[in-house]
This record gives sequence, C-alpha cells and structure tokens, in this order.
Amino acid sequence: MALTHRKDTRPVRVGNITIGGSDQVVVQSMTTTKTHDVEATVNEIHRLEEAGCQIVRVACPDERAADAIPEIKKRINIPLVVDIHFDYKMALKAIEGGADKIRINPGNIGRREKVEAVVNAAKAKGIPIRIGVNAGSLEKHILKKYGYPTAEGMVESALHHIKILEDLDFHDIIVSLKASDVNLAIQAYEKAAEVIKYPLHLGITESGTLFAGTVKSAAGLGAILSKGIGSTVRISLSADPVEEIKVARELLKSFGLAANAATLISCPTCGRIEIDLISIANEVEEYIQTIKAPIKVAVLGCAVNGPGEAREADIGIAGARGEGLLFRHGEIIRKVPEDIMVDELKKEVDKLAEEHYRK
Ligand code: SF4
Repeated sequence: MALTHRKDTRPVRVGNITIGGSDQVVVQSMTTTKTHDVEATVNEIHRLEEAGCQIVRVACPDERAADAIPEIKKRINIPLVVDIHFDYKMALKAIEGGADKIRINPGNIGRREKVEAVVNAAKAKGIPIRIGVNAGSLEKHILKKYGYPTAEGMVESALHHIKILEDLDFHDIIVSLKASDVNLAIQAYEKAAEVIKYPLHLGITESGTLFAGTVKSAAGLGAILSKGIGSTVRISLSADPVEEIKVARELLKSFGLAANAATLISCPTCGRIEIDLISIANEVEEYIQTIKAPIKVAVLGCAVNGPGEAREADIGIAGARGEGLLFRHGEIIRKVPEDIMVDELKKEVDKLAEEHYRK
C-alpha cells in the first residue's frame, strides 16, 4: 500500500524532470570527483545515471570548475545542478554554461545587485534555484535568537532566503533543510511543510559511512517520507555515490514512491530451505538494479509457504527439490531445473520490464 504523498507543492522544472506537484520523489546524488576533471566527473555521472540517478549535482568551488560545466553538460543525459556557495560570478558562469538548476542561498550572495544579476540570469534561462539551509551554518542573527540550531530557526532561515527571491518575483524555488541530527531534521521538514509550498529536497547531512549512514538516513528520511513530505531526495554517504542512489531507491520503494525501480522480495530462510537462497537473492538484487520499472520480484527458499507468502510479486521463484517453481502473483506457472532457474527468472523479469516500457 502506497502512502498518500504531498502533491500540493509548486511543480518546478529541472531540465526534463519536474520536482513537486505530484507524488513522485526524484532521486539525486552529488559527484565526488573534482568538477574540473571533466573525464572523471562525466564517468561518475554515467555510473550514477545507470544506477537510476535522475538529477546530479556537482560542486563549483572555483573558476576551473565553472569552466568545465558546458563540457560536462554536453556529455551527460540527466539534469545538472551546480552547487555554489557565495560567489555570484560562479553562479552566473554556471547558468551561462548550461546548469539546469543552481544551489545557492541568496542571502549569502551579498549586495542586492549581485543577487539580482543571479536571479535575472536564472529567470532568463528558466532554471530554478535551490535554497540549502544547513543546521550547521545558520545565519548569526538566527543563532543569536534561538541560541543553537533549532527547527524553528532553520525554517526561519529558509523563509528569509525565499523572501529575497520572491521579492524579485522569482518562484522556481526548491528548499532543503538539512541537519545531521535526525530528530532536528524531522522537525525542520515537518515545520517547513506547514508553511512552505515549494518542493522540499530531503537529506540528512553528514550521515556517515555506507552502513551507519544508510541506517541513519533511512530512519530520518523514512520518518519524513512517511508523513507524505518530500519531492526529491539525496542520501549523503561517505561512500561511492552510486551507493547513495541504491539506498535512495530502496528507501522510496519501501514507501511505494519509486516509479522507476524494481523491488526484490526474499524470504529470511528457515529449516525448510531447498536452494542456496542468499546467493541467489544477492544475484537477483544486483540484476534488478538497472530495471527501470516498478516490478516486484520474489525469491523464496521453498514452495511450502513460498508463492503464497509473496502473492504481491509480479514474478518469483521458489526452491523445490532440484528445481525451481516460477510463479506469478502466487500462481505457479512452470517448473525449471535448478541450474537454469535464475536465468529463467531474469528472462521473465526482462519480459515484464519490456511490457512496462512499451505501455
Ligand atoms: Fe522458510 Fe520457505 Fe518461508 Fe523461506 S519461504 S522462510 S524457506 S518457509
């Protein structure tokens, strides 16, 4: 059962993707390469695309990085977001170079003419701006008012930046309110959802390594998503960013929010097991990573409870003595020898994916 997700946010276009205005949650990540190293950056983006990343962000810390944007843009297929801290010249260069969105906090740009220059350039190209509030770098006046980073302070900071853009009649805005403290992030996003009608970009920042960061992100973002909040998500891990995509897709699948990902159902195994389920489950999980259709695939250790336990699966296999039973929605369709059962399952998955792509 899918949850009811917030749809009443403003739809904001980022290249060919729309963030907000629907129950879709867009998956994004950020490259770890030096942006000026075009070759390495493009390679990493291609790996991210392959893994299901829908939007990618690159850091733009200097002139060399900004100069690389046009070439990177030319060689990738998903929308490109450029992350700028303060320097309005970098923002102008990134926009000129083809960025599909920029991440910059207007309150940090400086004088009004500089803010106007960036906003006008973004308007002229029809690209949005993401305001990125971070609990660790709240404005001094907000910290002074609240004493330490609070959810209220984070939302106040977001509203402050939003007002600057709205005063310049700019409304293609996306907002994030990241914190590494899970409770703080949950509270901030909940409060923001009450008062901000722009799409919210979800993230738990500095969440940690692959294992710990995955658990922490799933705990925090799961709580937020379960309330129907969030239009795009980035998992931040100290790991290969492809892992961020895998985690994000898995998280969204748990809530029925991923329209472009296949899900694996596998049994926990018990004494009735008839096949080498753990290695088969891992192999099938790896295989379905690249499937861009919402298919449910089951791998079960035995036929006693197997097919019935996974009735919601579109296709599945259950172990039997020396063979596998292929089943659809709980009904066995045919028996296959054990040595080819995984290949047969993969073929059936491909067939279902093709049917979905043709729809
Ligand atoms: Fe045990 Fe079979 Fe259920 Fe797997 S499907 S947990 S092997 S009863």
